[in-house]
Amino acid sequence: MKVNIYNTMSRKREEFRPLKSDYVRIYDCGPTVYGYAHIGNMWRYLASDFLRRILEYNGYRVKQVMNITDVGHLTEDDLLAADTGEDKMEVTARREKKTPLQVAAYYTKAYFRDRRALNIFDPSVTCKATEHIPQMIKIIQGLEKKGYAYRLPDRICYDVQKFKSYGQLSGTNVEKLKMGARLEPIKGKKNPYDFSLWVIDSHHLMKWPSPWGVGYPGWHIECSAMSMEYLGPQLDIHSGGEDNIFPHHENEIAQSEAYTGKRFVRYWFHVRHNLVNGQKMSKSKGNFYQLDDLEKRGYEPLAYRYLCLTNHYRKPLNFTFPALKASQKALMKLRLLVWQWRRETKPAEKLSAAAKEWQSKFLRAVNNDVGTPQGLAVAWKVADSGLPAAMKLALILDFDRVLGLKLAEWKLKVPLKIRKLAAEREKLRRRGKYQEADKLRLEIKKAGWQVQDGSNGAVVLPRSKF
Ligand SMILES: [Zn+2]
Repeated sequence: MKVNIYNTMSRKREEFRPLKSDYVRIYDCGPTVYGYAHIGNMWRYLASDFLRRILEYNGYRVKQVMNITDVGHLTEDDLLAADTGEDKMEVTARREKKTPLQVAAYYTKAYFRDRRALNIFDPSVTCKATEHIPQMIKIIQGLEKKGYAYRLPDRICYDVQKFKSYGQLSGTNVEKLKMGARLEPIKGKKNPYDFSLWVIDSHHLMKWPSPWGVGYPGWHIECSAMSMEYLGPQLDIHSGGEDNIFPHHENEIAQSEAYTGKRFVRYWFHVRHNLVNGQKMSKSKGNFYQLDDLEKRGYEPLAYRYLCLTNHYRKPLNFTFPALKASQKALMKLRLLVWQWRRETKPAEKLSAAAKEWQSKFLRAVNNDVGTPQGLAVAWKVADSGLPAAMKLALILDFDRVLGLKLAEWKLKVPLKIRKLAAEREKLRRRGKYQEADKLRLEIKKAGWQVQDGSNGAVVLPRSKF
């Protein structure tokens, strides 16, 4: 079946066709590791995971490469600040009395803990900027040779006017440009859009020798260098957050295409930002959350994954606690259904015609520009359908390859004490001692569980604390 993806470059939904028939090369802009990731960052990586899983579900082999930005960089926040801006990696290193590489290693580990808790597949290749400095230098030299770069006393700059299609991805018009606060304020640059490829600075904590002097690379060059290193000059999909479109991805295109002379990316995949209660998340507003904060409140990371599945990636994710609570509940309900079917039967080995129809519905839903909300809706329709349990089980576990909710792994663990009380209650009921049985039911309830009487006898289920 066809897969459609919205391409930021063409501003259209397009049929997905990789360069090589069944092999997909994806490059993901990875985290900057000078601090913890927040739930908005993780939403963006979840959306990439949904895309990858959908492609794999369709039978594609996927090679997904993600970088770790462990070279300190002046960020836009720094540029907007009144002072000259200080490298965040170095600020953190000083504050935590660690070397920049120790800081990076610590936050990389924390980031991967969050990823795995959310059941996001590890990338096929994870690569660090600090380990690819020679590759970056080589590209900058090539750009210089081709006339796309020029020297200033303290840096090498990319000359955007030499790259004719600059601005195509973001729709930025170079001619009408006014000096924007979001651009690098570099003294002496020819055009406000020009950006640093290499900064000469021997006082920087992280520095490397280069043909232009000791210093460090500009931010954008690392993604051009590492994508080329592991995926070659042309990518099928490049993903990132919508805030990466300009200037980061625009600059990646300018660097890569000027250097190789080839089209860099076939499909640009951008995930919309997230909001909290309809507002921008910020530390000053007190609405800034990490995955850990949700866990402290008793929510599972997979409940957050579920919440993200209910939102299309091109719509802002509006995070609220009631929505997270509803997701936690829905996840629990789905798990219990799967668990109950598994008690009764095994997943069907062969799908019936009716079940196959549901499978196509699911495929159509998710293949339509990563339609996870629609895919999830199909899963619930299957759960409520009149299909035999073995069919439902086979379908839902199949869909979970995309949903990633670990439904097959979940087991209901009822404490021995509760199981004993339930067995005792059952005995009393059989003897007609309903009043005494009811006392035990209340005791079980107080302990956080509930007894449900069904055709196969009583089942003990958790009383959801949500
Ligand atoms: Zn990047």
